[in-house]
Amino acid sequence: MRIKVLGCSGGVGPDLRTTSLLINDELLVDAGTGIGDLTLDQMSRITDVLLTHSHLDHVCGLAFMADNLFGLIDRPLRVHATAATIDALRRHLFNWVIWPDFSQLPDAEHPLITFHEITPDVPFTVCGLAVVGFTVLHTVPAIGYALDSGEGVFAFSGDTYACEALLSALNKLPRLDRLMIEVAFPDEDAALGELSRHFTPHLLGAELRKLRHRPQLFLTHHKPGVEPAIQRECVDALAAWDYSHLKRGDIILS
Ligand SMILES: [Zn+2]
Ligand SMILES: [Zn+2]
Repeated sequence: MRIKVLGCSGGVGPDLRTTSLLINDELLVDAGTGIGDLTLDQMSRITDVLLTHSHLDHVCGLAFMADNLFGLIDRPLRVHATAATIDALRRHLFNWVIWPDFSQLPDAEHPLITFHEITPDVPFTVCGLAVVGFTVLHTVPAIGYALDSGEGVFAFSGDTYACEALLSALNKLPRLDRLMIEVAFPDEDAALGELSRHFTPHLLGAELRKLRHRPQLFLTHHKPGVEPAIQRECVDALAAWDYSHLKRGDIILS
């Protein structure tokens, strides 16, 4: 499995894009502003999208992608998400007010987007990968994903705060080779992290002590401007771990 990081920032700015991963050129995990660097040809090769939650930094690219693909693809783009996320997208994004409803365009018989409901903890297959979604703790219903290529297991936390559900889901996996996990704020913003349900470095370090696996860590979703503080604090908080701070354009093989 080849994972290309299209975006991994908690915000936008020069060279910063929000969360989106392109897997084997055909599957997206989240559709943040990172998809804006794909060519039309690259976009048209994507068949499936896995969404973690409904927040704009993870879904806004889906709106633009649907628009770009209009008339270019002859099968729907399959969007997989929980019922709560699908409901939020239908009500608040693809509602003809913020954006056209591409699940009804060009017509209801041949929609550009189809939604497919995911039930957490129920495995399914997408693009030849064994996938399972697991519940995490965020300000809206949110899940992370574990993807098994047959050669390795890669898990992505999505946006989350410390929670029993995350650790128990990860510990239940038979193996875990690589873990992409968010850390959005520095320690001094721990109160904001708790309020907005995002990790801070020392809280993440404390949670990871409960993990029975020793995956390679990829840290993501740093808010713009606080990256240096997060990096300084991770030196201590994650001293026992093999970790790196993700950058746009990174490739992970798993
Ligand atoms: Zn979020
Ligand atoms: Zn986010």
